[in-house]
Amino acid sequence: MNSFMVSFDNIRSSADAEVDVGIRIYALAARLYPICRSITGDGVRKTLHILGQQIDLTQHEVPTGTQVLDWTVPQEWNIRDAYIKDPSGRKVVDFRDHNLHVLGYSQAVHRKMPLSELRSHIHTLPAQPDLIPYRTSYYSDQWGFCMAHNRFLELEDGEYEVMIDAEKSDGHLTYGEYFHKGSSDRDVLLSAHICHPSLANDNCSGLALLACLARALRSRQTRYNYRFLFAPGTIGALTWLARNEDAVARIEHGLIVSCVGDGGGPNYKRSRRGNAAIDQAMHYVLNAGGRKGTIQDFSPYGYDERQYCSPGFNLPVGLFQRNAFGTFPEYHTSADNLDFIAPEHLASSYRMIMEAIDILELNWTPINLFPKGEPQLGRRGLYSALGGDKAAGETAMAYLWVLNLADGNHSLLDIAERSGMSFRDIVRAAQLLLANGLLAEAPAEKSAGSLAK
Ligand code: ZN
Repeated sequence: MNSFMVSFDNIRSSADAEVDVGIRIYALAARLYPICRSITGDGVRKTLHILGQQIDLTQHEVPTGTQVLDWTVPQEWNIRDAYIKDPSGRKVVDFRDHNLHVLGYSQAVHRKMPLSELRSHIHTLPAQPDLIPYRTSYYSDQWGFCMAHNRFLELEDGEYEVMIDAEKSDGHLTYGEYFHKGSSDRDVLLSAHICHPSLANDNCSGLALLACLARALRSRQTRYNYRFLFAPGTIGALTWLARNEDAVARIEHGLIVSCVGDGGGPNYKRSRRGNAAIDQAMHYVLNAGGRKGTIQDFSPYGYDERQYCSPGFNLPVGLFQRNAFGTFPEYHTSADNLDFIAPEHLASSYRMIMEAIDILELNWTPINLFPKGEPQLGRRGLYSALGGDKAAGETAMAYLWVLNLADGNHSLLDIAERSGMSFRDIVRAAQLLLANGLLAEAPAEKSAGSLAK
């Protein structure tokens, strides 16, 4: 038996444990939710500090002005306080009530102005008048506030005091990494963006889920290395890619995780390659057990798959979500709060990602060592080897499918899909055939993870 012939029974948790994991992910997301994050600054550091209580994170600090591919690490932004006071001195917008009230990366301001001038600095959602929108302005110098449209309509003419106590200054871009060592020299990348303020699904859910998953992997022997990345969207992924071109060549599979706490979907967006092993594994998981997941083709818009799947890298990295970003009304508003995510949805998202990891770990390509005619299974005691948990006919079918398709061109996942049998049953049958000398393992392909020439 080779080193990754692990049993499913050892790596699957019980239904109870899965409910527990949902509660743990939710509790962690709830701790992250209040923090005001952006693409740089102390909010990212506070978030990494909390995640670091779960796993042994490495925190990286990259100075302002560092060239990263075609981009430059920006100045660091930190905010202490912000408000708008009406003519009577009453705070009508207060950063301390909700950090979405301030346009992300706002310049500092403290002055009085008439409502007519203030209006152009206020962002609202007329179609969702009770919600505060999430807006940023990373790469242009401006200041602004966000508020519920109905509250905005209540503002009366007069002189308003606006105050944003924030600064942009030379500092650092911060990101966190966790590395789980496997037995091979090949990597799986799991990544979540850490740059959004108080938005629970996008992406406290993804950060918390990946931290709990990384923690669970600590007690598991894997053949792949697992590289967890908690970095600000776009500029963080670009920074990581620029500093890790040697590690990039080892990435064989990758998944971006965001919006995993709501009850929608599940959705998977394929890698740019479209036929990577992670694309096949996620397709299988999203259709297993009666799930009716949606698979979308790659497009160059979305989260950090935009960077990982740029042509100079072309990594096999897909995007996993429940509701797809931009399609649910709570997206990028104050309604994306802790009531919008739930432990049971976090648990089922966790289970789906873990199932994909199981497939990556357990999938291999067999070669039939007795390909001329069927080998005699009864003589080798194989019909009884699986015990009484499966109908004998079904067990035999799994053997026959594996033996027939074990021509070196079909992985176990290919065989599961072609046969319509479960991956789990095919893996068990293949393990027994291997142990009885009827199969060998085809050499691993070396196609994945290389830099485009
Ligand atoms: Zn977002």
